[in-house]
Amino acid sequence: MSILEIIKVPNPLLKSISKEVKEFDSVLKNNVKDMYDTLYSSGNGIGLAAPQVAVMKRIIVIDIKENEKSNPLTFINPKIIKKSEETFVNEEGCLSIPEFYGSVERSKNISVEWFTENGKLKCSDFQGLMSICLQHEIDHLNGILFIDHLSKIKRKMAVEKVLKIKKKKKIINK
Ligand code: ZN
Repeated sequence: MSILEIIKVPNPLLKSISKEVKEFDSVLKNNVKDMYDTLYSSGNGIGLAAPQVAVMKRIIVIDIKENEKSNPLTFINPKIIKKSEETFVNEEGCLSIPEFYGSVERSKNISVEWFTENGKLKCSDFQGLMSICLQHEIDHLNGILFIDHLSKIKRKMAVEKVLKIKKKKKIINK
């Protein structure tokens, strides 16, 4: 079991575009396993994109628990192939921007194509929380954060808040 460090804003890796996975090998399987270990150890996270643990590959793990039951879903090279014009606004947070939340407008329904970790092509429609989470995580693969959908002022506030928490932690650890 490896719990990886989740990088936080303003780390420039979070603004970089991740590369397509080409080999569905043991390296990929280890990446996926480490990402689940990291997601579950975060306590409150429901999704994690590989660049958040400084692995610049198009990998996403999501676990939206249903009735306390684990429901892990792995997305390799996910692509949104259709999105509804109808949108909805929901409050979002991010493990890379701790303790900051903001309202983001997203498509209500999306169709996504992706590969499993074994290289099998899949396609499905998503609504509700799963739709929000997938759009949020796919944004990560393209170097986009949920605060990039907010005003410049809110974006600045978010980064300042994270830096302040970091500073406080450093003082406590001394
Ligand atoms: Zn995020």
